[in-house]
Amino acid sequence: MKISLIIPCYNEEESIDLLYKEICLVLEELKRFDIEIIFVDDGSKDNTLDRILKISEEDNKVKYVSFSRNFGKEAAVYAGFYSASGDYIGLLDADLQHPPKALIPMIEALEFDDYDIAAARRINRKGEKKGYSFCAKSFYKLINRTFQVKIEDGAQDFRVMKRKVVEAILNMPEYHRFSKGIFSWVGFKTKWFEHENVERVNGTTKWSFRKSCGYAIDGIVSFSTMPLRIALCIGTIASLLGFLYVSYIILRTLIYGADIPGFPTLVSFILIMNGFILLSLGIVGEYIAKIFTEIKHRPLYIIDKTNVEVGEIKSK
Ligand code: UDP
Ligand code: MG
Repeated sequence: MKISLIIPCYNEEESIDLLYKEICLVLEELKRFDIEIIFVDDGSKDNTLDRILKISEEDNKVKYVSFSRNFGKEAAVYAGFYSASGDYIGLLDADLQHPPKALIPMIEALEFDDYDIAAARRINRKGEKKGYSFCAKSFYKLINRTFQVKIEDGAQDFRVMKRKVVEAILNMPEYHRFSKGIFSWVGFKTKWFEHENVERVNGTTKWSFRKSCGYAIDGIVSFSTMPLRIALCIGTIASLLGFLYVSYIILRTLIYGADIPGFPTLVSFILIMNGFILLSLGIVGEYIAKIFTEIKHRPLYIIDKTNVEVGEIKSK
């Protein structure tokens, strides 16, 4: 049996060595397995790649895939899955927020308890800004109402999966990758491991508020057509009300003749309806933009350097 550990890294020069050391400690307990560690350098601007190269020279279990520029964590994860040849495939962050020692019970769940996925769920959001936590929580509540698939509260990307799960994920080569949605969409028997939120050891999170909002919109648009339906419903109600009001105005004019008052009502209607039309256009635009980027079939990432042999890379 072989285990592949995938680690997406972007500007993590301070964490790589520490992480590698921790993983080595864990591997002592996983000697019954063949192991490969695949670092995916997502176009880091610091010395992350040098650190990875150094480790890979010393340890032939360590492989790397380095992108030509920053393509985002989702692309790095996909590249890692694509390059992995293990029967069990683990995914963890480079910043030690996903403690490698937690991998042991996760792997055992797949090995002995016949689960297909062992995934981590954090039970609190310690160390996160209050406002950010609130927005994140509201987002997941909204998503669970509108998606066909449910996303577990606090679900993380930290997980170990059997090869069949990863192959199902690789069969979803969509450009806009909302991994939490994708992981949940493919299904399979999952065991959840709960743990406290761990703060980053070094560096800062790569998620600005703006980036998180973009990710949230991507998530909703790629997994649900609910916004279009809401726009359709509100549009229908607004037109019905409009039709009734126009009928009333016509009747009133026919009976009592025309009068000048009503300007404020008119302006309010025009403003509200214009706002709504623009909003709906924006929603439709989001979907069209997604179609536009999907239809181009651009690769999710471009590899600059790697020591994963092409033969080892499993076909899509
Ligand atoms: N990451 C990446 N590409 C990016 C941003 C992040 O590969 O464009 C990696 C990063 O190095 C880390 C993981 O994804 O290993 C999670 O990133 P981060 O810690 O910034 O996210 P958070 O833990 O705050 O959700
Ligand atoms: Mg992190």
